[in-house]
Amino acid sequence: MSDRTRLRRKPDRTVEDRDAIHAVLDEGLMAHVGLVAGEGDDAHPVVIPMLYARDGEHLLLHGSPASRLLRTARAGVDLCVTVTLLDALVLARSGLHHSMNYRSVVVMGRATEITDHAAKVAALDRLVEHTIPGRTSRVRVAHDAEVKGTIVLTLPLAECSMKVRTGGPVDDPEDLDEPAWAGLIPIGVAVGAPIPDLGAADDPVPGHVAFWARGPGQLNGRPPPAGDTT
Ligand SMILES: Cc1cc2nc3c(=O)[nH]c(=O)nc-3n(C[C@H](O)[C@H](O)[C@H](O)COP(=O)(O)OP(=O)(O)OC[C@H]3O[C@@H](n4cnc5c(N)ncnc54)[C@H](O)[C@@H]3O)c2cc1C
Repeated sequence: MSDRTRLRRKPDRTVEDRDAIHAVLDEGLMAHVGLVAGEGDDAHPVVIPMLYARDGEHLLLHGSPASRLLRTARAGVDLCVTVTLLDALVLARSGLHHSMNYRSVVVMGRATEITDHAAKVAALDRLVEHTIPGRTSRVRVAHDAEVKGTIVLTLPLAECSMKVRTGGPVDDPEDLDEPAWAGLIPIGVAVGAPIPDLGAADDPVPGHVAFWARGPGQLNGRPPPAGDTT
């Protein structure tokens, strides 16, 4: 944590435990990556959604060399990356005391480009594994041209913060007898049945696809059967 990532508002919601921070980053699927693009009078903030993965004490980002965001980020500008997990809607007895339960992590810093071929391949595999665990061993190895044609950035987690809200609504005491329903609507990643690609309709659906699930709040995902390695 740094002065930039110290929570001023509701600091009691700060979580400093590294394992908890890692757990949020490992559960999330999408990061919002912010930076100031352009120069001079053209300078403006931009926040772009992106896939990411955690690799130890770093975040990995990747994309096309045509991406303005990645080209700007690799030049070494300050980044602010946010990952948010929404756990529940919190319904209070008054509109203003409604809230949300969440776990979120904000990372600040400067990214560097991974240029070493083997390290890049490992980072690209990590991005796939983060999103769909067990996938890399089922797909072909990336071609050299694919690796060369992709920017991969690594951002240290040295400067980051985590904030959490849990629990029920916090109503004013005089509102507790109000008739409005109060409580939580839990929210998670809803997982539908896999839809095979054209020509794959008759292929058996492997376990890492059939049982893909994310997070404790996931609504339809099922845990893979013990010992399933497909
Ligand atoms: C869930 C998700 C995951 C993604 N993962 C990746 C990834 O891993 N790597 C990657 O390179 N790209 C990813 N993208 C696409 C990414 O959001 C950008 O569109 C892309 O990287 C191009 O960035 P750019 O800076 O070159 O955009 P530009 O086209 O240069 O941006 C110009 C303007 O277009 C608008 N814009 C750009 N992207 C978006 C957007 N997604 N939604 C709405 N408006 C937009 C903004 O107003 C922006 O200022 C992902 C998108 C989503 C939604």
